[in-house]
Amino acid sequence: MADLRWKRVLVKLSGEALAGSQAMGIDPDVVGRIADDLVAAHALGAEIGVVIGGGNLFRGAWLQQQGTDRVTGDHMGMLATVMNALAMREALAARGIRAAALSGMPVPSVCDTFTQRDARARLAEDRMVLFPGGTGCPFFTTDTTAALRAAEMGCDAILKATNVDGIYTADPKKDPSARRYEALRFEEAIARDLKVLDTAAFALARDNAIPIIVFSIREPGALIDVLSGRGRATVVAG
Ligand code: UDP
Repeated sequence: MADLRWKRVLVKLSGEALAGSQAMGIDPDVVGRIADDLVAAHALGAEIGVVIGGGNLFRGAWLQQQGTDRVTGDHMGMLATVMNALAMREALAARGIRAAALSGMPVPSVCDTFTQRDARARLAEDRMVLFPGGTGCPFFTTDTTAALRAAEMGCDAILKATNVDGIYTADPKKDPSARRYEALRFEEAIARDLKVLDTAAFALARDNAIPIIVFSIREPGALIDVLSGRGRATVVAG
């Protein structure tokens, strides 16, 4: 087994990561490429929980903006995360990896419902579990779901996959003088209201002493680099 810096991890993928260059939807090639990275990490001996968002398909706030009930919109958003997880589950299966999808929102004819006991058992057995359906509650996000599942699974770290290789002092696309942080304290991340994760997710990770590693998933192999303690990323801890 390779020398991994983080053995049991929670990988958080935004829904947008699955859309690739499209504004919306699921790009099977991108799902396949990310599945390749997950499979490679699995082969190194990592135990991997995966939370995928739903922003490529639906966000609860969209309905609210039209004056419709937020809770209904959030239910639709959570269903979107289930669709993304099913796409990833099939991509993993095609690569020989069995991964249960355990949903925070019960959709029993589609996949099993999350319980901590089941999830721990499946993670120990298969070393790969998907956590769709968010927390199962409206008004939360899948970032918060990631922090929650990481705490429940006893993960060593949350690996937050984005399109940028860490957290910057300013938007690097707009400001060429923007600097990437190597490390940040939770308090600093919360006080600066950094939008890379929501405050509830930062607070939950802080309270459970789980570091958050922000890295870019755009380059193939980036996940392995992060797991090995190499690669460009920002570590939020402390
Ligand atoms: N959502 C929710 N409760 C949760 C997680 C998600 O209601 O615990 C809904 C919410 O409407 C959110 C949508 O699911 O907008 C998609 O999740 P998110 O926006 O976190 O996805 P991402 O930005 O990661 O693609």
